[in-house]
Amino acid sequence: MSPAMRVHFRVVMKAVLLCCAAALSMLCFYRSLQLPHGIPSKGPSPSAWQERAPRSLSYGSRDYESASTGPLAPQYDTNELQQPLDTVEVTPAQQEVLTSLGDLFISVKTTLSYHRSRLDVILKTWFTLAQEETWFFSDSQDPEYQERTNGHLINTNCSTSHNRKALCCKMSVEFDTFLRSDKKWFCHFDDDNYVNIPKLLSTLGKYSPQEDWYLGRPSIRTPLEILDREKKKLVDGRKENIKFWFATGGAGFCISRALALKMSPVASGGKFISVCERIRLPDDVTIGYIIEHLLKKKLTYTPEFHSHLEPMKFLRQESFPEQITFSYSGQGRDLNVLKAEGLDERIDPTRFMSLHCYLFPHYSFCPR
Ligand code: UDP
Ligand code: MN
Repeated sequence: MSPAMRVHFRVVMKAVLLCCAAALSMLCFYRSLQLPHGIPSKGPSPSAWQERAPRSLSYGSRDYESASTGPLAPQYDTNELQQPLDTVEVTPAQQEVLTSLGDLFISVKTTLSYHRSRLDVILKTWFTLAQEETWFFSDSQDPEYQERTNGHLINTNCSTSHNRKALCCKMSVEFDTFLRSDKKWFCHFDDDNYVNIPKLLSTLGKYSPQEDWYLGRPSIRTPLEILDREKKKLVDGRKENIKFWFATGGAGFCISRALALKMSPVASGGKFISVCERIRLPDDVTIGYIIEHLLKKKLTYTPEFHSHLEPMKFLRQESFPEQITFSYSGQGRDLNVLKAEGLDERIDPTRFMSLHCYLFPHYSFCPR
């Protein structure tokens, strides 16, 4: 090749490379417009949403008026969900937030008849990593579990039944107890959740508790749409619908202190129960209603929270350290548990001990 040809060849190659780079960046830009990071994409994926209503709505289904009809829509309306922080610009102040275990208030909702069947595995596993921060909200005295939780079993005196009123009553006591503490984050879980404490901490560390944050995972694909019982005014002779997202309680969720303080005028001192009763929705839905509808703040979609409304077996073992919560449900053919290698199913039917061993292999019950 002559020197002139070589120069010509180089120029042509540069132009081709530049075109490729431009096309690639256009493609990336276009994709980022379509699908915010962290939102499940279309098409079958192992952790795709199940086509069924979450348990939270079935509690209230007899008496809440849903304006949505038919089966759940196939895709999130992504415009309405707040994106996780790594897709928005992180200011230096946010980067410096250092969350320590002592900043957390962890509440676990439970009931007398589940103390033995559900608390035992929690006490053996993740509770040991956050004993001072974790409180169990139950509905009866239980000296044995009072001792085993180091005095962290709170008798809410709420009813022991599984109805909306009883569950809202417990949430109300959880919220008020958090407000009375000096903690920066309120994190609620069910007693069939495993909480990955280090991951919870590192996730919260990305957000400032002095700003308004509501982190969790919705269990329906579109915002909940209900008739606005509050509005007196009729629009064209009809009541208007309202739409809002809520984080499903069975996967757990966290609220920053700043946001909790803003919720306080409507939700503290037992007022949370009145809101539940007024809108006739379950506790976790009512939290979403207060934050998204009344306060106009957004839920931040945090896919690392998991409830048993998702099939647990599709969570890959290698991804366990990256998840914040896990759950289990069912029996026999309907069993929905993690696929976690480790202990025998007879010793570890929930798979939480095996999960714990995968994350923290030094525990005495872990296989060597
Ligand atoms: N629960 C309760 N009182 C009851 C039944 C359940 O406080 O009478 C609590 C239970 O301890 C758990 C949550 O409500 O933290 C959800 O209950 P469960 O897992 O049995 O039901 P599902 O997840 O199917 O709604
Ligand atoms: Mn459950």
